[in-house]
Amino acid sequence: MILPVPPPHHPNTPRSPILLLLTLSCTPHANHTLWRQVPYDDIAATCDLANETGGHPLAPNGDLSLSADCAALLGDAFGVDWSDFDEEPHNIHDPDSALESVLGGLLLSIGASGVTIDEALTADAPSTLSDQLTGLAAREGLSGGDEMGRLWYEHLSRAFHTIQYKPELDALAYFGGNQLVIGDVGNTISDDPAILPIADNAMPFLEVAVILLHESGHNVYGGHTDCPNNDGRCDASREGAYGVGVWWGHLWLQANLDSLEWYTCDDAAERVESSCAVIIDDDGWAACEVSALRERCWAILVDDDR
Ligand SMILES: [Zn+2]
Repeated sequence: MILPVPPPHHPNTPRSPILLLLTLSCTPHANHTLWRQVPYDDIAATCDLANETGGHPLAPNGDLSLSADCAALLGDAFGVDWSDFDEEPHNIHDPDSALESVLGGLLLSIGASGVTIDEALTADAPSTLSDQLTGLAAREGLSGGDEMGRLWYEHLSRAFHTIQYKPELDALAYFGGNQLVIGDVGNTISDDPAILPIADNAMPFLEVAVILLHESGHNVYGGHTDCPNNDGRCDASREGAYGVGVWWGHLWLQANLDSLEWYTCDDAAERVESSCAVIIDDDGWAACEVSALRERCWAILVDDDR
């Protein structure tokens, strides 16, 4: 199983008072000269996200469609380096490249989910994330009844100022210094494109979205910690990047899993489960009660058979 485990180096984390000063004096200025925010309403209009009352953009089989204009605008909003991916904006339906998977995952992350801000920022949410999102909602004039996709956009677009491609990256994705670096994010099973081309094995958009939210969680929480058995990287609790991805997946699935085919649901449950497996103490967190989630996915299959 390939997990999005970044290298331990997180350039955003200041390690000394001197570094802290350097970070405060240099980084914000550098970022602001690169970053231009695209208003959510522009993306909602161009990407057909106007339905904010629960109509999410995912088809039951996990497909979604982006027009070329939508892909271009999302690229502007998140600083996609098209030349790095050797692509130009185009229509996207069945993803056959890492960038197509990422753009679809971004659209899903920020689209309508049928979840309001008040429903998302409960006591069960990772608390540091919830505090940051509460402050962000206030600054953006969003209310508790607004669609959560709007607030996820404000959060994600502040995390990812540029998106670049390094196919040789030894991870699905890496985040540092407001840059998201994409590895072979479309390929779920093998690192070897000669055996399993990305085109034949695209990662479901729901899983890509969980990974993107995970990476954005590094902008809130910094890096991971060693797992107890020293096998890979873990988080101590829901307060970490894994918890951010899990929380997004939990909210989305609780609101929408009945609209999916069972295997789409089950794929997403598997990604949530693999993330929960590296949260050392999930403290009975409802979002990590994956067996209940899988039962609901299987119930869809039983219904389909009738
Ligand atoms: Zn991570």
